[in-house]
Amino acid sequence: MARRERIAILTSGGDAPGMNAAIRGIVRCASSEGIECFGVEDGYTGLINGNLRSLDSRSVSNTIQKGGTILCTSRCPEFLEYEYRNKAYNVLSAYNIDALIVIGGNGSFAGMNQFSKDFNFPCFGIPGTIDNDLSYTDFTLGFDTAVNTVVSAINNIRDTMTAHNRACIIEVMGRHCGDIALYSGLSGGAEIILVPEMKLDINGIVKKLQKYRIKGKNSSIIILAEGVCSCIDLKEKILAKDNSIEIRTVKLGYLQRGGTPSMFDRVFACRCAEKAIELIINKEYLSRVIGIKDNKIFDMDTDKALQLESKFDYELYNIAQKLSN
Ligand code: ADP
Repeated sequence: MARRERIAILTSGGDAPGMNAAIRGIVRCASSEGIECFGVEDGYTGLINGNLRSLDSRSVSNTIQKGGTILCTSRCPEFLEYEYRNKAYNVLSAYNIDALIVIGGNGSFAGMNQFSKDFNFPCFGIPGTIDNDLSYTDFTLGFDTAVNTVVSAINNIRDTMTAHNRACIIEVMGRHCGDIALYSGLSGGAEIILVPEMKLDINGIVKKLQKYRIKGKNSSIIILAEGVCSCIDLKEKILAKDNSIEIRTVKLGYLQRGGTPSMFDRVFACRCAEKAIELIINKEYLSRVIGIKDNKIFDMDTDKALQLESKFDYELYNIAQKLSN
């Protein structure tokens, strides 16, 4: 009798809400196809060290609503070296694993792609990062949840800024990508949105804040993507131009990473999981990543996906500009 197919799943890089929903989806879809699943602990570190455990449908019960990742994650500089990737390959061979699913961001996919090329090993990527910085897909797992968390923080900060007639700079995550700032700024009604994709114009910001004051706005929210500069630096630059502006700073930090995934992220995770198992069953490809475009789940060659240019939504940015007057 032919042995059952076996796959391994790992989460790598920054954790994101929806990773657990994806793990659960993979395990349950695999199980219904008779495929055995192993979870790798701590991302590529666990793969190198042989830290795998069997996952069945029951072991992922009660996880769809949880943030973080039940498999834990890591940054693993060793994986950049062939010697360590070879160790990881030996681990997968020892466990008779036929394919690997990586849930992570840009770096994790680069590692996965290299690993797949080194050993002709079938690897499939599910985009999991709150930053939404993967150009080939409209959205990544965790982004929607993170934006909702930021919007709720904006609502709270707005109350106190209005009570005191102040401006506030709210620094949000996103690494080199301005999407968290753009989407949360637009939906949180921010007066100013600063993203790394647009040139920083301090004079323009100061003029806007002065104009808002004259027009009688009793609070101003500036959403600042971390890829531009820190909230402290920006405050100093503004005060250097006009020190009569009352301005506060808040760096939201890790609170953006955690929390129960939104409906969108859960549904997206389930759809990606189903696609990953379909790709594994079809055995057509060696290295593919899964994404969403116009609400359709698709897969594409990992090399191609990683070479695509940034997809910043200038139309959305212009709408936000119009609405902030
Ligand atoms: P993310 O996946 O969230 O972008 P990182 O950029 O930190 O997170 O990458 C996660 C891990 O992926 C790294 O710690 C490393 O183990 C692996 N990785 C990143 N780039 C490469 C690469 N070029 N070759 C091999 N492994 C890589």
